[in-house]
Amino acid sequence: MKVGEKTLQNYVDTLIKTRRIKEFLNEKAPHKVSNGFRPILSVVDQVAKKNPSHYSGMALGSRTIQISCWICADKDQSFATVRHELAHCIQSWCELAGSYHGRGFTTALKLVSQGTWRNDRYWKSTPAVEQARQEINNMVRSVHD
Ligand SMILES: [Zn+2]
Repeated sequence: MKVGEKTLQNYVDTLIKTRRIKEFLNEKAPHKVSNGFRPILSVVDQVAKKNPSHYSGMALGSRTIQISCWICADKDQSFATVRHELAHCIQSWCELAGSYHGRGFTTALKLVSQGTWRNDRYWKSTPAVEQARQEINNMVRSVHD
């Protein structure tokens, strides 16, 4: 079943209200008001100019999450992508050390994705996701032709 933008934003809002995330933000970024941390999520055709079917999501700083429409063909995978991008937002908000997918990111991902962080490092394909990716590739190609 296809997942909508509102469902995914609700999921973000549920996650950021959890005590472990609140406490982490307060500890790692004590100079900021953790209540101000609320990334706004949107579902888009493509998150990057190149390879529309490559990235399932993208975080822009700590305030914006973009989710690729094709990953929304699968609930589990779209939720996993939200967790991954939320970890990037926390990484940015708390200015955690390390490279983009390095140490600080892994710390944030473990926080957000407690039991599933290894899975949430990269999205997995499913038949529904493959079909949706194919459609977006065809669409983008026809726009550029
Ligand atoms: Zn990432």
